[in-house]
Amino acid sequence: MKAHSDKALVDRPWLDPDAEPFIHIEGVTKKFGDFVAVDNVNLSVYKGELFALLGGSGCGKSTLLRMLAGFETPTAGRILIDGVDTAGVAPYDRPVNMMFQSYALFPHMTVEKNVAYGLKRDGLPAKEIRDKVADMLGLVQLTQFAKRKPHQLSGGQRQRVALARALIKQPKVLLLDEPLGALDKKLREQTQFELMNIQEQVGITFVVVTHDQEEAMTLSSRIAVMNQGEIIQVGEPTEIYEYPQTKFTANFIGDINMFEGRVTESGQRLTVDCDGIDTPLVVDQKDTVDVGADVAVAVRPEKIHVSKAPPNGDEENVIKGTVHDLGYLGSISIYRIELASGKMVHVTLQNQRRRAHLEVEWDDEVFLSWEATDSVALTE
Ligand code: ATP
Repeated sequence: MKAHSDKALVDRPWLDPDAEPFIHIEGVTKKFGDFVAVDNVNLSVYKGELFALLGGSGCGKSTLLRMLAGFETPTAGRILIDGVDTAGVAPYDRPVNMMFQSYALFPHMTVEKNVAYGLKRDGLPAKEIRDKVADMLGLVQLTQFAKRKPHQLSGGQRQRVALARALIKQPKVLLLDEPLGALDKKLREQTQFELMNIQEQVGITFVVVTHDQEEAMTLSSRIAVMNQGEIIQVGEPTEIYEYPQTKFTANFIGDINMFEGRVTESGQRLTVDCDGIDTPLVVDQKDTVDVGADVAVAVRPEKIHVSKAPPNGDEENVIKGTVHDLGYLGSISIYRIELASGKMVHVTLQNQRRRAHLEVEWDDEVFLSWEATDSVALTE
């Protein structure tokens, strides 16, 4: 029996062991003097993916992107794009294009001239350029702004001009370094969806560098989490969020509670004795960690239930605490619950009904509980 349907394999080629990656990064290291900016990275990106390189400042994500573009040369390892080794291939001879921030637009040129620039430089016939520019402006919904100059546009519109300018040359791969970095939150969210739609329509493989985890989660087919030049984990957004493999990834993506302890039983599930908690915690994780190993049991704030009365089912992970802080954020409320040990546990609750957040108040004694399937045990 096949583990995944054929449809799933078309949409998610990384699940297919026979699928050929479009971009193959093999053992790539980049050193600047003695400093290792990118450390032995192996990565496969498939055709049509919107792949995000995510990490904090200085983790090496831009350097990796610049090596794909050909602006930096790997110190070791190789990069294949569409089966071709890129070693020695100049940036303009690669089937890739880099989308620069919108401030790199030519200020004195109109939108259509900015978009036409690359084709004009390539010497394409005027009619062909006109048609292609018209199509592209339609795609990024800027047709009515064709005659404006960049300073007469909003930030989001300028960003779409930059995108059109990069896409018009029909690269096989489009590289985007913090493409939405200059936009405010609301515009950023809106532009994220536009970017996804456009990518879907053109079918070009996008590799996006971002330090914004929400953006990476919203945009991408898969995310590579980077730290200090290394890839820590690669996965679909849900995988990275629900099944982080390390404390670094768990902490980097979203908020999470960690309970440090030691494994006392391992088998179908793990039982963990945690510091400062009376009852052992149970994690639905099979044979992954040996008895006696130090682990952190990690639980997302939204997976935890809060009740004033003790849960009366056969819940396994139940701990007691006192409401230390609560904050009403509109759609959700956030709670910080203090355990007897002094440890703070973060809980978020959806405010599905208007007064739901008022049911629990400051200093209330509460019971926290979660399912064994809603936590992971992390060893590193
Ligand atoms: P940010 O989000 O801040 O742009 P980043 O993850 O994109 O960070 P990189 O620009 O890839 O980080 O840089 C990785 C590391 O390599 C940094 O510590 C940076 O200082 C260093 N670095 C980058 N380019 C050079 C260079 N030309 N010479 C020396 N060091 C460099």
